[in-house]
Amino acid sequence: MKILFSAPESNWADYRDLLPSALARAGIEAEVVREAAPGTVDYIVYAPNDDLRDFTPFIRARAVLSLWAGVERIVGNATLTQPLARMVDDGLERGMVEYVAGHALRHHLGMDAHVVNPEQDWTPEAPPLAADRPVTMLGLGALGRACAQALAGLGFPVTGWSRTQKRIEGLRCLSGEDGLSEALEGAQIVVTLLPLTPETENLLDAARLALPARGAALINPGRGPLIDDDALLAALDTGRIGHATLDVFRTEPLPRDHPYWAHPRVTVTPHVASATRPATAAQVIVENIRRAEAGEPLLHLVDRARGY
Ligand code: NDP
Repeated sequence: MKILFSAPESNWADYRDLLPSALARAGIEAEVVREAAPGTVDYIVYAPNDDLRDFTPFIRARAVLSLWAGVERIVGNATLTQPLARMVDDGLERGMVEYVAGHALRHHLGMDAHVVNPEQDWTPEAPPLAADRPVTMLGLGALGRACAQALAGLGFPVTGWSRTQKRIEGLRCLSGEDGLSEALEGAQIVVTLLPLTPETENLLDAARLALPARGAALINPGRGPLIDDDALLAALDTGRIGHATLDVFRTEPLPRDHPYWAHPRVTVTPHVASATRPATAAQVIVENIRRAEAGEPLLHLVDRARGY
């Protein structure tokens, strides 16, 4: 069996040993290669790269296995007719939980006032308890659900919102258009963990950014285009939104002259909220190859029509 590892060189360094050893542990005899005649390839492990954009010649490939959770750069590729699975990885999930919990607690506890305090201001104002700080999580998939549950575990009252209605212990779950307004109204911390699709692009526009409590914090580790940037900058200028912690942007790296860099109410992190962790991700890839070979359904299949 031949597995083509089609991803940037930096990823190959991470997987060149891990993937063959995970395959061997699963008892799968396979060769993991960087180049191959397309007609000989059984599986493609993929992250967007310039060498492979046309999947047409891979007539034998039984699946394309994405290294990334977000597939917006692949899902619309008309040449991709093979099943596409996205990455759902324990390491990725744990990293996202830590990022979201850390930034939520930073805002909740007002830590910035103590980290940078040149005037040596001593105003002993204790923050409220988490129980008095409503949080809204947009997206209740693999990542949103884990983060929402972690925040609920810290004591925050968490409302989650998704396309289809969910029932998740400890969370208030809403869905659909009306559910979105209800979820945003009065929230003091809003986190976006939605995929980028035609339906979610510019979801947070001026009208929706006006719904959370005045001074609310927005944390976006989802995708940049989920937010209308001009509307967010306007909401930050008036203090309607008190702070935005942004990890993802329409253009990455964020251009040096972008107003987000200099805005006093914005924290820019360079798309580091979480990353696929090769050790656990290699096992996910191998499990999907095992399933495909055994005729079992693939895990984490992307629905092309939905776009995620
Ligand atoms: P999932 O596909 O598991 O979950 C997506 C969630 O969004 C689901 O709850 C889904 O609803 C909901 N959703 C999708 N479309 C809509 C819509 N139109 N209206 C309402 N809800 C919608 O994705 P993950 O949780 O694994 O990942 C989420 C995103 O996080 C990724 O797509 C990626 O963009 C981003 N990401 C960012 C990283 C970073 O480092 N910054 C790292 C990894 C991922 P339903 O459950 O009903 O289908």
